[in-house]
Amino acid sequence: MDDIRVSRPNDLESLWMPYSDNRYFKANPRLLARASGMSYYTPDNREVLDATAGLWCSNAGHGRREIVEAIQRQAEVLDFAPTFNLGHPLAFEAASRVAELTPPGMDRVFFTNSGSESADTALKIALAYHRARGQSQRVRLIGRERGYHGVGFGGMSVGGIGPNRKQFGAMLPYTDHLPHTHLPEQNRFSRGQPRHGAHLAEALESIVALHGAETIAAVMIEPVAGSTGVLVPPHGYLQRLREICTAHGILLIYDEVITGFGRLGTSFAAERFDVTPDIMTMAKGLTNAAVPMGAVATSNDIYDAIVNGSPDGIELFHGYTYSGHPLASAAAIATLELHRSEDLNGRARKIEPYWQDAMHSLADAPGVADVRDFGLIGGIELTSRPGAAGARGTEVFRRCFDKGVLVRATGDIIAMSPPLIVEPSHVDRIVETLREAIAAIH
Ligand code: PMP
Repeated sequence: MDDIRVSRPNDLESLWMPYSDNRYFKANPRLLARASGMSYYTPDNREVLDATAGLWCSNAGHGRREIVEAIQRQAEVLDFAPTFNLGHPLAFEAASRVAELTPPGMDRVFFTNSGSESADTALKIALAYHRARGQSQRVRLIGRERGYHGVGFGGMSVGGIGPNRKQFGAMLPYTDHLPHTHLPEQNRFSRGQPRHGAHLAEALESIVALHGAETIAAVMIEPVAGSTGVLVPPHGYLQRLREICTAHGILLIYDEVITGFGRLGTSFAAERFDVTPDIMTMAKGLTNAAVPMGAVATSNDIYDAIVNGSPDGIELFHGYTYSGHPLASAAAIATLELHRSEDLNGRARKIEPYWQDAMHSLADAPGVADVRDFGLIGGIELTSRPGAAGARGTEVFRRCFDKGVLVRATGDIIAMSPPLIVEPSHVDRIVETLREAIAAIH
């Protein structure tokens, strides 16, 4: 430990922190210096139990030896290889490992470095696919209110979060948004999938009627929306969306950046909901977040249309210097091997009922407006303080952190997604700390 610098840095000013209240943080820094298993540790060695798997990403728990060693080994053998018209073996192996987990017939994998890059890559693949099939007028991209697909212009435009778009002027043209599926009156305190709301998928038919199916390329949604407050798809909603897309030749894209790699007790949400998209994006859990990496998996038909069938012989003019980076590929292979050998999906499924009961035990806490859960995701919606939306969420986050539990506030919703190695005793500690924090602010 002596060789690890864990002291507080004396200059906090240079770093422009992402998505942060920079001024507040720099006046009241909360730093994480190391991590192991279910916990982070502050520079003064205080343990903080991780109820968020970092940012929905360290699904196998922190500091996993197998992953660390795979990265170290790879750094010594091959630090980098050019990506375009050259390759290295581990990228191919990592892609086949991912393809083993995706639904049958979705065996083609394009590597990126993040969820945002995956979202923009998926949208570009959808456009290129239609063009390769002689339907270049299909350019319209449909997202959903409260959808989050990262911060690139594609994902941001298709995403449905006003504040994320407000500062940045022009978005992509030809985008539309389905309504979100949050129906608090009908579905409050639902356990798992809510009953009401499948009809909201019909909004896609209205968009088709308005613009014509022949202008629409794709619909992109998160199967379970995470960072905008844990919105679980109502029973029948995804099935209906799939039917409408298929009927009109529209591609369905799942953003599985949060839901992938065991979060719902299956490799992907597609499997858990038994509704298969044409394209899926992923990131986060793919490498257990030890090295940045994202990916887009597509149906074999989409790959064939673009790679083998494009009339003008143009393949996909798209890629990143670090697509399939050797260190990331090594981390992905080691991570997916851990998933297999430790049956992390099975572990998640086993503890899901306990997690669900624990989340819903907070339903009667004062100031709790709703509790939502699915897989190992939990969302506790607090009543907002009049005129100060988000303030209670932030206060609960800070109190929990200071009491040794890391949760995430998204507005006034406390979102949780523990590593899949979570035990009942951890769940108990998370819930008790939350209960105290919520009581303290009311
Ligand atoms: N899609 C979803 C569903 C996400 O939750 C996130 C990140 N929280 C992203 C995309 C963007 O990923 P990144 O921050 O790695 O670009």
